[in-house]
Amino acid sequence: MSEFRFKFKFRFKFKFKFKTSLNPSESPMEGCHFNDMSDKETITCELAVIGTGMAGMAAALFAANRGISVVQVGNTGGIIFASGFLDLMGVHPIKEKKRWSDPWAAIDALTRDVPAHPYAHLKKEDIRAGVDEFLSFLEESGLPYHRRTNWNVEALTSIGTTKPTYCVPRTMWAGIKALEERSPCLIVDFHKLKGFSARQIRNTLGAEWPGLRTTRVAFPGFENLDELYAEQMARALDFSEETREKLAQAVRPHVKDARYVGMPAILGVYHSDNIAMALEKQIGVPIFEIPTLPPGVPGLRLREILEQQMPRRKVRLFSKKTVFKAEHQAGGFMLHIGNMAPEETVRAKRVILASGRFLGKGLRAGRKRIQEAIFDLSVFQPSDRKGWHCRNFLDPQGHPVNQVGLEIDDEFRPLNSTGDPAFRTLFAAGSILAHQDWMRMKCGSGLAIATAYRAVNACLKMDA
Ligand SMILES: Cc1cc2nc3c(=O)[nH]c(=O)nc-3n(C[C@H](O)[C@H](O)[C@H](O)COP(=O)(O)OP(=O)(O)OC[C@H]3O[C@@H](n4cnc5c(N)ncnc54)[C@H](O)[C@@H]3O)c2cc1C
Repeated sequence: MSEFRFKFKFRFKFKFKFKTSLNPSESPMEGCHFNDMSDKETITCELAVIGTGMAGMAAALFAANRGISVVQVGNTGGIIFASGFLDLMGVHPIKEKKRWSDPWAAIDALTRDVPAHPYAHLKKEDIRAGVDEFLSFLEESGLPYHRRTNWNVEALTSIGTTKPTYCVPRTMWAGIKALEERSPCLIVDFHKLKGFSARQIRNTLGAEWPGLRTTRVAFPGFENLDELYAEQMARALDFSEETREKLAQAVRPHVKDARYVGMPAILGVYHSDNIAMALEKQIGVPIFEIPTLPPGVPGLRLREILEQQMPRRKVRLFSKKTVFKAEHQAGGFMLHIGNMAPEETVRAKRVILASGRFLGKGLRAGRKRIQEAIFDLSVFQPSDRKGWHCRNFLDPQGHPVNQVGLEIDDEFRPLNSTGDPAFRTLFAAGSILAHQDWMRMKCGSGLAIATAYRAVNACLKMDA
């Protein structure tokens, strides 16, 4: 057994050890090689993945599943802000805010209307296969998701609105059913918890869901704190059976005629499914989680699972490092990576660039133009800065700056200004791709996973 130490801070600091079943024989170094004893700083691999957001993680997973030696570099991406919902395709056209219950029909309409959208470079079988492989991985890793294979569901948000999504953590599934049935339901919140109000949810939805009631209880063990945070509660539930029992005791008297109980997403970082099942037994009705405001626990769960599992799958993961410089050479790329400055070199035959947009730092906005930060690739963008934003901040169409990014060929290779692949063995995936506004289209994770799937398969076909 090996140990990871986690440090985390709220208003005060805890320090504890979390044991994983990482087998020493499954060294994360396997498949990746140091050049020789005198040149310890150069690591060679078949594929380097730049980015540890959803797209980078999915790419590393798919590559590892196919036996490719992978080095992955990045800082925590948008995953940590994610609600936990995996959107595939929910809204099109953006301007009309048209919601689709069939994501596959939405993708058909989208690729017809926006032929440059990254989904238009994909076959539907590939999108399905990528999503299926990613969901199987989550299930095997103890974070099962639920969906209706061909339909979107409407999911509750922390402010009581609903959004179309494709797939939710199993701990949120009962909420989908409660909302569909408009069953008698109790939403619980907690004294001193920031960013989640059961009453706000009832105020927003109460007219169409008369059986919705709310209650507020104290979270066991933290009664004397001035402020409570979801992550703090989740970690307490992970590690203390007593806290779980006391929470059930606090909620049970309020259930009465409710057929479901909803609460903020606090049911553990590492054992959410088991905690939900244990609470259900004690409370007597199905329990569901509702995402809190970001960053929240569901995003943290995804990050923790992915960061733990990558090394087990022999991915050499540098999760707190940056690629400072990339050089193209015969036979591949040299990436200079480090924390504050370049410290090591990765020599990779192929690279998948999944460095995100502005939040991820894959794109940089200068005074006049938007640049791709590592390779200085050609970026599709309005001809000048005045075109980045609409005059109306809330323009229903969204701002042109939300659709900037890399244009690609069908092998997911970024194109240069003359329309040819910038490099033969450089591929791109995720939100850095142009002609999509994942936030408004409700396609963030689906796009990240499906484009990563295609980029990895294209990569496999291409001789270095
Ligand atoms: C607030 C919020 C809510 C969201 N909610 C949902 C949701 O409800 N449903 C859904 O499906 N999706 C949601 N998402 C989207 C989803 O989580 C992903 O953010 C999105 O799909 C884009 O992922 P990405 O991997 O392309 O980019 P990012 O997540 O931005 O990751 C980019 C990665 O590249 C790395 N990087 C950049 N430059 C370098 C460099 N020079 N060297 C090394 N690494 C580098 C970054 O460190 C980071 O790891 C949400 C995202 C946010 C921000």
